[in-house]
Amino acid sequence: MSAVNHRLLLVHAHPDDESSQSVATMARYLDEGGQVTLVTCTLGELGEIMLPEWQHYTPAELGQHRMSEIDEALREVGVNDHVYLGGPGRYHDSGMTTGPDGRAAVPDTMPDNAFWRADLLEAADHLVEVIRDRRPQVAVTYDPHGNYGHPDHIQAHRVLMYASVLAASPSHRPDLGAPWRIQRIVWNTHNTQRWVEAYAIAKERGLELWPEEERGADSFGPDPAQIVAVIETAPWLGVCRRALGAHRSQVDIEHPFWQFYRIMQELPGSGEAYLLGAGEPFPESDAPATCLFAGLDDEAAAC
Ligand SMILES: [Zn+2]
Repeated sequence: MSAVNHRLLLVHAHPDDESSQSVATMARYLDEGGQVTLVTCTLGELGEIMLPEWQHYTPAELGQHRMSEIDEALREVGVNDHVYLGGPGRYHDSGMTTGPDGRAAVPDTMPDNAFWRADLLEAADHLVEVIRDRRPQVAVTYDPHGNYGHPDHIQAHRVLMYASVLAASPSHRPDLGAPWRIQRIVWNTHNTQRWVEAYAIAKERGLELWPEEERGADSFGPDPAQIVAVIETAPWLGVCRRALGAHRSQVDIEHPFWQFYRIMQELPGSGEAYLLGAGEPFPESDAPATCLFAGLDDEAAAC
């Protein structure tokens, strides 16, 4: 008997984040017959172009190009429900700068329709419509700091958290569909312990990585005790590599960082790690859950 009816929503800021952070998660639930919806908030028009032959692209041209890259990546994963928040190009990449503390920061100037400047109610309502239509039990986005601080990651987080409250409220915009409550929201994060292990292996192999003092062992990710779920990468390594590789304008998979990342994904027991953002807690356990739907009580419960 297959009673599994998992419905998962992922909200990512721009193309390629789904392929660097969520491929195993998306592939696994699709493989199990679940429904996977990906929402991408901008076209990533201000991403750093890795290939010299595409350096001349204007932001608009890069955005168009990145739509074809994410299409290819999602074909590799098998995702066929992909939505651009408010339609393609509604929200422009806000860009990013580096603050005095070396962290990602909000740039001084950005286009008028930059996602960072979005009216939050309008942006959330685009997502309310998707939530009420797809009725996900679980949703995924970044943590409140946007993981490493990219303004559009932070905004994606805000929009999902806000939209989840509005979507569940019967009095809010009944014209956008019947109310729907997402039972659990998780935030993607670094698999801290695996990052530490992979960093040591990569250094041994002579890969040129960021200096340890710049990013000490305690800043590889959250306290591992906070990680509530890990979705195993091992069955999906090939898909992970092909999906990431599809983002050629942004990702040179031979770059030392991505070689490090590959080492990390290949470590035994490695996987995509999550923090609990809101909603139903995971069942009590000493180890992180192996399913994002663990312990939910409606038709989604089977893991
Ligand atoms: Zn990103």
